[in-house]
Amino acid sequence: MAPETLPEGWLDDLGSFLVIPSVSADPAHAPDVVRAAEWVADRVRSLGGEAEVREEGRLVVGEIAGPPGAPVVLVYGHYDVQPPDPLELWESDPFSAEVRGEWLYARGVADDKGQLWMQLEAAASLAASGEELPVTFRVVCDGEEETGGDAINRFLAADRERVDACVVLDGWMKRRNKPELVVATRGLVALDVEVSTGARDLHSGHYGGTALNAIHALAQAFTALLPRDGRLPEPLRAGVTPPSEEELAGWSELPSGAEELARVGAVPLDGRAADEFYVRAFVEPSLDVTGILGGKPGLRNTTLVSRASAGVTIRVAPGQDPEVLAAAAERLLRKALPAGATMETKADLTPPATLPYDNDVFRAGREAFGAVFGTQPLVVRAGGTLPILAALADRGIPTVMAGLALPDSHTHSPNERMLVETFPLGVAAARETYRALGERLSPSAARA
Ligand SMILES: [Zn+2]
Repeated sequence: MAPETLPEGWLDDLGSFLVIPSVSADPAHAPDVVRAAEWVADRVRSLGGEAEVREEGRLVVGEIAGPPGAPVVLVYGHYDVQPPDPLELWESDPFSAEVRGEWLYARGVADDKGQLWMQLEAAASLAASGEELPVTFRVVCDGEEETGGDAINRFLAADRERVDACVVLDGWMKRRNKPELVVATRGLVALDVEVSTGARDLHSGHYGGTALNAIHALAQAFTALLPRDGRLPEPLRAGVTPPSEEELAGWSELPSGAEELARVGAVPLDGRAADEFYVRAFVEPSLDVTGILGGKPGLRNTTLVSRASAGVTIRVAPGQDPEVLAAAAERLLRKALPAGATMETKADLTPPATLPYDNDVFRAGREAFGAVFGTQPLVVRAGGTLPILAALADRGIPTVMAGLALPDSHTHSPNERMLVETFPLGVAAARETYRALGERLSPSAARA
């Protein structure tokens, strides 16, 4: 396919979106979040569509109608961004769009405004072509993705309108210009644990060696959750579903586990961690103690501590049930807790998602991305958690989900950036995906 060119002025257009500091986590930026939502709604209107900004979650809900009977494609992206702090580490204003070398820098350029812009620009290029639109676009964009809001999931659960496919551009590919299509994500159990071993803290000179210390009790309980030989205890592995041959073959083309660990300066968990990197990140659940509070660290003292708390997160593997996992984790903790200690827990649950990919929608996306990038996209799972994918899977909406940032796009970090060359490719890939969906899903295609 010939190298794609974008219309003159595209960078200014994208820049006008990126300069809006739509930081959803900061109430001071609430008006900017609305401004960014209006930017998206205006774009939909300028393409001949209708759009509104809803109070709830600042969702932008719009439609650009194709010909009667055209397949309906949900275009999802989020226009809110992470706070830019620490500001002193940025080499340019996070809310200006600046090209340096082969990169475009701005907060949100990779996650996710730049990628949402590609999807909208792809629709614009189809609208400008003078031909009939291949599909009807239903645009639903999120203003609280970065703060974990679930307005989008409530919207999808309540929505009764026709949707034949969804296209999402968010996230990254591990190798430059080797796109990855995501077919499963892990869920999350976020567990708060509090242990108590007495009415109050004690003098360790009087009671040390005779009274139970809450920090020790907590540490002892945690040993029941930790992995052995790279696998969590069996009760935490219930429901794990093995990858297909096709998935395993594709993962062998990803950077090696040793590279992935070395790139971030990580110490491997054990001798097999590098070899099993993708099986552990995509297929297996994992558990991390994310923080421990107790005692008075930093102050030399002689206290026997009676209260300690901790946060634990479990990444729930595709196929697993977060409720079952949370209950199993609590049972393991209680069993390992020393007698007499009491424990309270509180869990927040996000389900994993498995998107079927033996369907025309996925094939349309795979062909389009393959043609534009000149290489077969890989079929991957995501080790992270994307609540919207679970909602799409629940509704049975076949989805093309790809991310075009790179691991060194500094997502959620200072100097967030996106390769300039990726923009024309991303626009072309989205546009060809819409075209292919139009061909494969239209009623005439079904009859043929
Ligand atoms: Zn993000």
